[in-house]
Amino acid sequence: MIQKRLFPQIKTIALVAHDHKKAELMEWAIYNKTYLARHELIATGTTGTILEAELERPVKKVLSGPLGGDQQIGAMIAEGKIDILIFFWDPMEAQPHDSDVKALLRLGVAWNILLACDRATADFIVTSPLMQESYETILPDYSAYLKRKVE
Ligand code: PGA
Repeated sequence: MIQKRLFPQIKTIALVAHDHKKAELMEWAIYNKTYLARHELIATGTTGTILEAELERPVKKVLSGPLGGDQQIGAMIAEGKIDILIFFWDPMEAQPHDSDVKALLRLGVAWNILLACDRATADFIVTSPLMQESYETILPDYSAYLKRKVE
């Protein structure tokens, strides 16, 4: 059975940046402040605190990434509470929470949300005309998996 999912007109955007990518994310967010103003923002702890100061607007915060924040964002993706993930992860440095990083990226794909890991993709997402309207997409079909017989 085809299951659909609606991305509302006002979208919830999760933002996460590793320490060496935070400056880049802030620069990107300030540059796109007007586009972001129309949507809800949620972020991992440290990223969110800096974003709030830079954008001068409230940002909902979960725990710091390595302390469980990535997993909290992941759980919200699985619950359909996040539409877009802007995740500037650091390709040049291993993280203490590498397994959480992988899990977060996996859930983003498993639930077919919008997912940008670099500035160019993030630019294309925020400037898309679909950001200003609701958008319906098809969820991956996990029914066979859910009905599988387990010995
Ligand atoms: P932070 O977490 O925003 O609390 O630094 C980011 C991360 O997941 O590493």
